[in-house]
Amino acid sequence: MVTLNLVIPCFNEQEVLPETTRRLLTLLDGLVANGAVDASSGIMYVDDGSHDCTWALIEAFHSRDPRVHGIKLSRNHGHQNALLAGLLSVEGDVLISLDADLQDDLAAIPRMMAEFRNGAEIVFGVRHRRDSDSFFKRVSARSYYRLLRRFGVNVLQDHADFRLMSRRVIEELRGFREVNLFLRGIVPLLGFRTAIVKYDRHARFAGESKYPLVKMIMLASDGVASFSTKPLQWSAYVGGVLALASLSFGIWALSIRLLTDRTVPGWASTVIPMYFLGGLQLLFLGVIGGYIAKIYAETKQRPRFIIERTL
Ligand code: UDP
Ligand code: MG
Repeated sequence: MVTLNLVIPCFNEQEVLPETTRRLLTLLDGLVANGAVDASSGIMYVDDGSHDCTWALIEAFHSRDPRVHGIKLSRNHGHQNALLAGLLSVEGDVLISLDADLQDDLAAIPRMMAEFRNGAEIVFGVRHRRDSDSFFKRVSARSYYRLLRRFGVNVLQDHADFRLMSRRVIEELRGFREVNLFLRGIVPLLGFRTAIVKYDRHARFAGESKYPLVKMIMLASDGVASFSTKPLQWSAYVGGVLALASLSFGIWALSIRLLTDRTVPGWASTVIPMYFLGGLQLLFLGVIGGYIAKIYAETKQRPRFIIERTL
């Protein structure tokens, strides 16, 4: 009999938590009744430094039902770190990570368990349709996944952080010590036997997204820069092509100057490439700087999360 733990990072989720808890406990009851999981299975909420009543709610749920557990992080560490804190702290044979807002379809969980029983060590929840997401989110997500694959990062299209991992896999995950954490890039690197469960993504049950555009862009850039050095190579290619182009431009300008007596005013042809090349150099310095910043963060090896309290 396997013990299942549901790991749920929460940042200011007081509007959704009561309903989420109710539905998850019902789900667990069903799984226990079917004999799919052990009765000691439970829920692990990770309070990622919420400012609202999230922690108080988790404490209340815990006192009402011992199957609900909680970890309180000392401050907001960000979704990926909060999730990792939960995954690395909770026991159990099988862990499933999901969002607090009920966007991930709970009906997929029994199907994930079935895949686990069939031998899969990792089961990825993949969105069937994204109707419930805004147009902007759909388009940006699609282009982002395409970009990642172009950069050689192995990610699964439309898979976020709704996934099942076995104890075996979690112990291997522990070995990935990176501070710039992008779990959906790391997990496919682990290998093992995997399976996919498709589900329809619901609209957020209540409250609003805790992923404003800036956070989303930061996660996206972590995803690229932590898994691919292609942007550095591309900078070098573009730099090489431009150097060749300027060389031929120089030869052309020189030959005009030496072989003809046409005097060229030469303002535009000097200033335009100067601005263009200057801009390009700054851009590529920025790319390189981005990588140095990541190296800087990684070499310090600061803890990725700090746990203040555990229930
Ligand atoms: N979250 C978190 N820390 C943060 C931001 C988000 O733990 O700094 C949690 C949030 O409570 C939710 C999950 O991460 O359970 C996904 O966030 P959200 O649903 O707001 O993102 P979206 O679905 O809009 O991308
Ligand atoms: Mg959400």
